[in-house]
Amino acid sequence: MHAPSAIKPRETMLIPVSNTERWQDEFQRIITDSDILIERLGLPKSLKSAAKRASALFPLRVTEPYLNRIERNNVQDPLLKQILPLGEELLSVAGASNDPVGEQKLDSTPGLIQKYHGRVLLMVSSQCVINCRYCFRRHFPYQEHHLNRSQWQAIIEELKGDQSISEVILSGGDPLSIADNQLQWLTNELAQIAHIKRLRVHTRLPIMVPSRITEGCIQAISHPNLKTIVVIHCNHAQELDHSVNQALMKLFSRGITLLNQSVLLRGINDCANTLTQLSETLFQQNVLPYYLHKLDHVTGASHFLVEDARIKQLYQELEHRLPGYLVPKLVVELAGERSKTRL
Ligand SMILES: *Cc1c(COP(=O)(O)O)cnc(C)c1O
Ligand code: SF4
Repeated sequence: MHAPSAIKPRETMLIPVSNTERWQDEFQRIITDSDILIERLGLPKSLKSAAKRASALFPLRVTEPYLNRIERNNVQDPLLKQILPLGEELLSVAGASNDPVGEQKLDSTPGLIQKYHGRVLLMVSSQCVINCRYCFRRHFPYQEHHLNRSQWQAIIEELKGDQSISEVILSGGDPLSIADNQLQWLTNELAQIAHIKRLRVHTRLPIMVPSRITEGCIQAISHPNLKTIVVIHCNHAQELDHSVNQALMKLFSRGITLLNQSVLLRGINDCANTLTQLSETLFQQNVLPYYLHKLDHVTGASHFLVEDARIKQLYQELEHRLPGYLVPKLVVELAGERSKTRL
């Protein structure tokens, strides 16, 4: 228990005391019904039946803070397009795969994926608060990834025994969707392993539920033995409103390195102005652009693909317009390669 502080912040005196934190309420309020989404945003009713069918294959999930940044009555809104289930997802297209990056065969220890030297990926949580329609893990067999304590112990033992590993990446699902005490346990365990120097957290929560970035959360991913890096996932500057800025500021002010990865998506950010503005807004909010991913050709997301010639043209334009440190690395994930591949 915390000792009551002498001066309470004004807010806590006005709001009734509750045991759930605000971010947990946001998790309860996630929208999963496509009819409700379409009505809330004043979209054409004709979208309803396809949205139902597409969300039966890969559920709709979106948070209120994100929804509030979507313009009403605009089917072209770049934030809407990332989450609205569409009939196009039902088409079968040549070249698409259920596991485009060759991940599903790699986890001999459940929850642990190693593709690259020195870095391992831990699938900490099985769910995201948002389901991005283009997600390359949309067909991932997540139900196999509910880990119990002894499985976590097995992961820790494996990491202890492999001196080549210097960085652990928490991924998922969204790793920040688990409770602080679980994150804290994991961080403490990793911090005791001398060869592990860096803890990287891949999360969309600073954008989807900014209130998730609490003091407790920051403490749970911080340790004097580790450098913490938070990699957010933002595709468009419109995602970065004031509340996101505040969440990022909290992380940044605690010495956490902030990076962003984006996916190049047709009709969402395949435009030099949009990408330039994204890099500039990210930097205003203390985030450096890290990767711009060419879309992994996952079944159901073919309508987001951008042609190679167009990608090249866009990227050249970015290099002309931006200082080098604001140009993300353009990469693609190829099965069997030893790193992401530069385009
Ligand atoms: C992208 C990725 C990483 C991290 O690669 P970096 O180049 O270090 O960002 C690690 N493991 C897997 C499986 C990945 O897909
Ligand atoms: S946040 Fe990442 S893992 Fe989650 S649905 Fe979106 S793309 Fe997929």
